[in-house]
Amino acid sequence: MDKLIAGHKRFLAEVFPGKRSHFHLLAESQAPAWLFITCADSRVLPDLILGTEPGDLFISRSIGNVVPITSSAVDGVTATIEYAVEVLKVRHAIVCGHSDCGAMKAALNPTALGELPKARRWLDHVQSAFAYRQPVNPAEGDSAELASLIRGNVVAQLMNLHAQPSVARAQAAGRLTVHGWYYDILSGRIEEYDEAQKRFAPLEQ
Ligand SMILES: [Zn+2]
Repeated sequence: MDKLIAGHKRFLAEVFPGKRSHFHLLAESQAPAWLFITCADSRVLPDLILGTEPGDLFISRSIGNVVPITSSAVDGVTATIEYAVEVLKVRHAIVCGHSDCGAMKAALNPTALGELPKARRWLDHVQSAFAYRQPVNPAEGDSAELASLIRGNVVAQLMNLHAQPSVARAQAAGRLTVHGWYYDILSGRIEEYDEAQKRFAPLEQ
């Protein structure tokens, strides 16, 4: 824990003073424009890769950046989506998968998960990724097969996001846009899924 305590001390001494007025504004309310649904992976740092600040992103994280749809049970992700859309009135909802995703590796090789009853059930939600697999890019070498499935999972979860009742209502009213992203850890680049052309293209273009 020493690393975290030292880091917090540095935050209090060096970072917070410079952002004091910003945090003061945020202390009693938030109005984030973006709902960001991504994996729990430690290498995905939304504020770092997007240049966003406290108050910008409303974030939901779970292994495999899942948007559950097949279960009638309440879960943290769909409850978070509903709150973001209905109460915070975010203008964009983004599902962001990433390269080398352990959840998708497990989907390719379920026995590797071993005795993890909860993770195993949660990852039932990524099975639909297989139906949306994207073209394999030989330039991605040994990880090309996995990357194709991870991009497929972004599309699958994007479809699930469209199907959330709150999202469908907000889209019909023209006050919400949804996006599917793939983040490559090695290059730092993000690709966006084009739903009309059914393919991924670099976000920065
Ligand atoms: Zn992941």
